[in-house]
Amino acid sequence: MPRLAVLATAFLLAVSMWPVHAATVTAPAAVAVAHAQPADPQVLAQAPVPIPVPSPESVRHYETGNILWIVSTLWGFFVPALILFTGLSAKLRDWAKRAGRYWYFTLVVYFVLFTLLVSLLDLPLDYYATFVRPHDYGLSSQLFGKWLQDELIGLALGLVVGALALWIPYLLLKKSPRRWWFYTWLASIPVMVFLAFVEPIWVEPLFNHFGPMQDKALEAQILDLAHRAGIDGAHVYEVNKSVDTNELNAYATGIGGTKRIVLWDTIIKQFTPDELLMVMGHEMGHYVLSHVWKGLAFFSALLLLGLWLVHRTAGWALRHFAGRTGVGELSDVASLPLLILLFSVFGFLFQPIGNAFSRHLEHEADRFGLEITHLNHACGTAFAKFVQHDLSYPTPGPLYVLWRSDHPSAAARIEFCNNYHPWTDGKPGEYEKDFQPLSSAGQGH
Ligand SMILES: [Zn+2]
Repeated sequence: MPRLAVLATAFLLAVSMWPVHAATVTAPAAVAVAHAQPADPQVLAQAPVPIPVPSPESVRHYETGNILWIVSTLWGFFVPALILFTGLSAKLRDWAKRAGRYWYFTLVVYFVLFTLLVSLLDLPLDYYATFVRPHDYGLSSQLFGKWLQDELIGLALGLVVGALALWIPYLLLKKSPRRWWFYTWLASIPVMVFLAFVEPIWVEPLFNHFGPMQDKALEAQILDLAHRAGIDGAHVYEVNKSVDTNELNAYATGIGGTKRIVLWDTIIKQFTPDELLMVMGHEMGHYVLSHVWKGLAFFSALLLLGLWLVHRTAGWALRHFAGRTGVGELSDVASLPLLILLFSVFGFLFQPIGNAFSRHLEHEADRFGLEITHLNHACGTAFAKFVQHDLSYPTPGPLYVLWRSDHPSAAARIEFCNNYHPWTDGKPGEYEKDFQPLSSAGQGH
């Protein structure tokens, strides 16, 4: 793309993601409800929460974050293109051939050289985005040594996984140049399921310490909620993320025997028991509604489409640019930057679809959390705390939502917390059949 077109695109993206300040209205009347009838726990549990007005710092974080996102997206296209079109990829392959000799080792040597080169080129942006910037905004408490350690572990992990898996598509490219994309997709399914299974037990503990919950009273409440959600023997872990970040989070992960709920120690410190129970209700929603499986199925469908599109375009690109790249066939490992470039482009184009699907799952998990806890007010204050602590912008612009929001906006979630309570009108909830009802005595913990 000509330089001017890149700049124009970046500018358009920046403008259209600018925050919608006008939409950030607070609802001052809402708080009054809580004070009007302080005696009634039902009313208290449902007292609406106003959508927080973002601080100037939060606005700045949002705006500069958009610029950073545009720069890193373009950089992600630029780096593989640079390595491919300068003929560097072909040179790396020649070195790899001399050093590796055999087909598999050539592949591995090329992959190691390529990965180290890309990591080096990405380093300045990576260092700024994941270390300097979070510290600038007070979002990080990570020491430089821990950052470096995590980066190196991530790099080593990438090298190991690549060395173990890269031969599969390249062998299929060699054996079946016309159907490789389909066979690669078939082969990717057990690999993805395996990675989803081992990720919580093999990968995550490399970065942080996962232990049992410290607050036993809280753990008992969470296990009680899990019992009502039909997930007896649920694993709830506390992870020492406070060494890395001040941000708040909890998530459901793993499949089968490694299915678990993880709470960052930061969220345990900042949230009230009711807020934590609502968040746990949300995570149990992911768990009970099989969202990890649904996500895997959805992602693998997108992957099939992506592989087919890469297959359709890669051959053309190779023929067109063979003179410049020194790469004549897709089964040549030097085609890797081309495959990565095409995947990045299609990934970028599909991002809005993936995000919309993710937002849908998150919304349903919010619904589950509300239905199982009835803690509307704590739900609203919990999301307001995310805005405050994580500097998440409550009312992002439409392009931001399309490309960057894998969760509904804080404003949308608080609004849902405020307004979703079919049980007050005696109406059935969506997921009633998936959990035991709140006993009348146990109204709101
Ligand atoms: Zn979620």
